[in-house]
Amino acid sequence: MNSITHKYVEYIPATLDEGVVYISKKYKTMVHKCCCGCGNEVVTPMGKTDWQLTEETESISIYPSIGNWGFKCKSHYWINKNRVLWSDQWSEDMIKAGRRSDRLKKEAYYKNESGDAYPVTNIISQLLQSLKNWWNNLF
Ligand SMILES: [Zn+2]
Repeated sequence: MNSITHKYVEYIPATLDEGVVYISKKYKTMVHKCCCGCGNEVVTPMGKTDWQLTEETESISIYPSIGNWGFKCKSHYWINKNRVLWSDQWSEDMIKAGRRSDRLKKEAYYKNESGDAYPVTNIISQLLQSLKNWWNNLF
């Protein structure tokens, strides 16, 4: 399984569909059937020390990864923008790096919008500018 859909519910239903992450905000819980297809139900409570749900317009991401060590399948995957990223395809470092570059892109975008900073891609010109300022201040 390489993607999931998500459904907001008040109560987690007794029978779950494969490939659906049920989200109950009321009970701060998410439940889904293991993405490997083994049929086990995976409960991921929401919270700062549990799993964090990131909602976007049409997708969700769950952080950190979901490791079903208690099941026979021992599957381990990430849910990122409704895609299932299997941990043998995506290492933790890769995810972190992805998040970092996402954040940098966003920061660059917003700083650029407000016009008070250089975009990250122009970091060299920023350095040159501060070098110039330093030079000018010497005289
Ligand atoms: Zn499984």
